[in-house]
Amino acid sequence: MTSFNGNGHRGDNGNNGSNGVNGKSAARQAALRVIPLGGLHEIGKNTCVFEYGDDIMLVDAGLAFPSDGMHGVNVVMPDTSYLKENQKRIRGMIVTHGHEDHIGGISHHLKNFNIPVIYGPRLALAMLTGKMEEAGVMDRTVLQTVAPRDVVKVGQHFSVEFIRNTHSMADSYSLAITTPVGTIIFTGDFKFDHTPVDGEHFDLARLAHHGEQGVLCLFSDSTNAEVPGFCPPERSVFPCLDRHIAQAEGRVIITTFASSIHRVAMILELALKNGRKVSLLGRSMLNVIAKARELGYMRAPDDLFVPIKQIRDLPDRETLLPGGAEPHLPR
Ligand SMILES: [Zn+2]
Repeated sequence: MTSFNGNGHRGDNGNNGSNGVNGKSAARQAALRVIPLGGLHEIGKNTCVFEYGDDIMLVDAGLAFPSDGMHGVNVVMPDTSYLKENQKRIRGMIVTHGHEDHIGGISHHLKNFNIPVIYGPRLALAMLTGKMEEAGVMDRTVLQTVAPRDVVKVGQHFSVEFIRNTHSMADSYSLAITTPVGTIIFTGDFKFDHTPVDGEHFDLARLAHHGEQGVLCLFSDSTNAEVPGFCPPERSVFPCLDRHIAQAEGRVIITTFASSIHRVAMILELALKNGRKVSLLGRSMLNVIAKARELGYMRAPDDLFVPIKQIRDLPDRETLLPGGAEPHLPR
């Protein structure tokens, strides 16, 4: 857990008690507490708790895949007993993007405690809606879609600005979280991709703006962020995939995370380019592509797709099967 009490901090929002809910003494005791319940130094179950005074705000709630040896385990969740015990203080949740390790736990948690409101990107909330309907928890929260640079207030002590970032998932955000003791930049998952597949660029100007205003702390933990150097743009896998698909003599089967929207969009584009029909493998792939096409994050003609049962009727070299295994919560 990380705490900031604001002493010595020179930001405009210094902790001088003016924002305290219970008068000066309570405000003096109040401190910003940040409690990552999962997701640090591991891949999966990203769940972060921000706490100030009487307010609790959550950022993401993901799941993790079981590791070798977790026999019979479908998904792994962080311990949220602290949240259950303090559920009356939960004011809302922020979702950064729609990867399973960031939204996959939400419908499960909503069975244990209510979350008054969840703010997040359109695509992530569309994917979340499907999970919540399946879990029967649609009445446990209110979903609010945000746009780039939107600012939302959560409780009395937090306001959060959504800053467009680039990631393997479309419609992803970094956050500028303003608290009584200063602003925290919470990058979420990201990579600096200057040629994004969907043309949505990282809003670096907004990050620079907050940098000039003064930032209390940078929270940044994206997979492989510790590795020096640059990662290649997502688009760079396109020629390689193109070559393999064009040269393949038989059926092509590609596995990827269904929620890696950019990757899947490229695969569909290449199927079209190479004259192959697509059959989708797995429920996640079907659900994610349906949502992404419906919302305009993925463009593919209807006649590109054929039901899996009809794939045998086509010559092997005219078919392509993307499959994505992602875990589902038991009902
Ligand atoms: Zn991610």
